[in-house]
Amino acid sequence: MSFTVKENSPLAPITGMRVGGKAKYLVFPRDTAGLADAIRRYKEKGEKVIVVGNCSNIIFPDSGFDGAVIVTSCVKGIALRSGVIVAACGETLSSLARFAANNSLAGLEFCYGIPGTVGGGIFMNAGAYGGELSQRVRECLLLDPDLEEITLPVSELGFGYRKSVVAEKGYTVLSASFECENGEREAIFRQMDALMARRKASQPLEYPSCGSTFKRPEGHYAGALIEQCGLKGVSVGGAEVSQKHAGFIINKNNATASDVLALIKLVSETVYAQTGVRLEPEVRIIGAEG
Ligand SMILES: Cc1cc2nc3c(=O)[nH]c(=O)nc-3n(C[C@H](O)[C@H](O)[C@H](O)COP(=O)(O)OP(=O)(O)OC[C@H]3O[C@@H](n4cnc5c(N)ncnc54)[C@H](O)[C@@H]3O)c2cc1C
Repeated sequence: MSFTVKENSPLAPITGMRVGGKAKYLVFPRDTAGLADAIRRYKEKGEKVIVVGNCSNIIFPDSGFDGAVIVTSCVKGIALRSGVIVAACGETLSSLARFAANNSLAGLEFCYGIPGTVGGGIFMNAGAYGGELSQRVRECLLLDPDLEEITLPVSELGFGYRKSVVAEKGYTVLSASFECENGEREAIFRQMDALMARRKASQPLEYPSCGSTFKRPEGHYAGALIEQCGLKGVSVGGAEVSQKHAGFIINKNNATASDVLALIKLVSETVYAQTGVRLEPEVRIIGAEG
């Protein structure tokens, strides 16, 4: 079998926020062929299917997922081909940055410390400190909803701020290629270490979270608005608006998904009432209906 399956398996331990109920099937493909195979098999069985990476930006409900959650964390493989890095969807963004650095390739330093995978990163157009994946992706090998393989160049990937065509069209990312510039290995690693130090100083990495809860609204910073509205430290159940970085909601004390979702609602309603700015969640919220 090209994938392994756990039935009726808790989702919380594999999610960044450590919340959510059980998945009817938790499926771990071994490689990209296994990923395609798993999607096909569960779709044929009439099950709902969702493909996830490291679950660092996703909240499943307390009622869980009544279908197959296909996790790409074992779908690995990274190589340099004619100066271009090709990485499988389950490689972490930090491994991608390290691989580039080890090959003296600059431009992916910003990925270091984003706790997602290549697949989740392309889906979200992940970015930090002025960089985003769209600046470095050359092309992407995808499965379309009919499970046909297609290769799209960056110009057809519909990248925007925390969005891509992958989300819009229901594609699955199998792998992606990245173009970098020649650089000096030690300088690249120094830059990665400096960015990681900035993360550690400003983000509540000691608690489970999904990173920034909200997208950056045009002309504002979500964290600054939330702080301005006096919401730092406000909690619902075990979920809390981080004291260290108001843009993060953290799982402070055995929060449930309902606690987190209620706090997201409270924060967005309060910010809208006080400032007129609508905050849109950056985290992917999976509804009870899947
Ligand atoms: C502490 C912390 C710091 C963070 N910092 C940043 C940051 O600086 N910048 C940033 O952009 N994000 C940040 N994030 C958020 C998160 O890490 C990114 O959004 C990341 O790209 C999500 O990747 P993932 O593999 O965890 O995706 P998941 O959370 O598993 O999934 C996210 C979405 O992508 C989809 N998806 C995943 N894999 C695939 C695939 N192979 N094919 C198709 N769809 C797929 C899922 O269905 C889901 O809708 C942070 C999160 C945390 C917890």
